[in-house]
Amino acid sequence: MKASAFAYARATSVVNALELLAAHGDKARILSGGQSLMPAMNLRLISPELIVDIGELAELRGIAVKGDILTIGALTRHVELLKSPEIAAHAPLLADAIAHVAHPAIRNRGTIGGSLAHADPASELPACVVALGATIIVRGPRDERRVAAKEFFTGIYETALSPQELLVAIELPVARKDSSHFFHEFARRHGDYAIVGLASQALIRADRFTELRLGFFAVGDRPLLAEAAGKLVNVTVTPAVLSEASSALGEELDPQEDQQASPAMRRHLAKVLLVRCVSTLLSRSDLAGAIA
Ligand SMILES: Cc1cc2nc3c(=O)[nH]c(=O)nc-3n(C[C@H](O)[C@H](O)[C@H](O)COP(=O)(O)OP(=O)(O)OC[C@H]3O[C@@H](n4cnc5c(N)ncnc54)[C@H](O)[C@@H]3O)c2cc1C
Repeated sequence: MKASAFAYARATSVVNALELLAAHGDKARILSGGQSLMPAMNLRLISPELIVDIGELAELRGIAVKGDILTIGALTRHVELLKSPEIAAHAPLLADAIAHVAHPAIRNRGTIGGSLAHADPASELPACVVALGATIIVRGPRDERRVAAKEFFTGIYETALSPQELLVAIELPVARKDSSHFFHEFARRHGDYAIVGLASQALIRADRFTELRLGFFAVGDRPLLAEAAGKLVNVTVTPAVLSEASSALGEELDPQEDQQASPAMRRHLAKVLLVRCVSTLLSRSDLAGAIA
């Protein structure tokens, strides 16, 4: 199938892109890497009247570290993140996760801004930015606003962006030298969308978590920053404590049914990931069997 007829405009600046969005409202769509937009148009899941191509806007591309903040331009491609020494040093969770996003051909074109704006609940990067406590920078016709990643995702393919706004950058706190991270996903083949996944960042002192952020994906209509993590912080984690956290996680999840898995299977896999994450981060093989 091919897309319905549409008009095309190549934006010459962010201001120009915003003018085009303001003039055409929800009849226009931004084009970044096109790796999600074009398939959706070709399948006629969406039929925008105007495509606003921001692909040439160098001002939206790049990775910079200033003090303890890492800023990533919305148009930075997955492959650039994967190869970036700044990402490897200051956001290693993101580097681990991107290796699981699709395949090289898609990572060569797909962008972080496109991935976050697309807001697929089975996508790796939304869960990472939630786990990392990122801020999403959004530019609208009048001003710029900053949205906490946890508030940005509002449903399946839905975000806090209005049709007149552009996601311009992502800010992350630089990972502390003493922080640890864990990333794993269950997928049928490497590069497929996850059946269930977990992106986590932690601080550990004297064998206890002093901070633990668990970003689950493919377990509901948006990435989940699990509150069950609170049961594991500032306590000695025993199999019983972990089992209690695992039950609490089960209560929080609202997994969807699809061709890949039933809700019960997703709930089980999320608990498996929780246990793997905690036992790996604390280097405790005795915790490995603690699923409630
Ligand atoms: C076969 C296949 C497998 C894939 N597997 C995975 C996977 O395992 N994991 C995964 O996470 N992704 C996967 N993807 C999606 C891929 O990562 C996309 O690149 C990404 O989701 C979208 O990035 P993009 O730059 O291509 O965005 P586009 O396709 O250009 O845009 C996606 C959506 O976001 C909007 N948008 C884009 N940029 C902005 C912006 N700056 N501001 C506001 N709105 C914007 C567009 O209007 C559109 O609605 C897969 C894609 C394919 C085709």
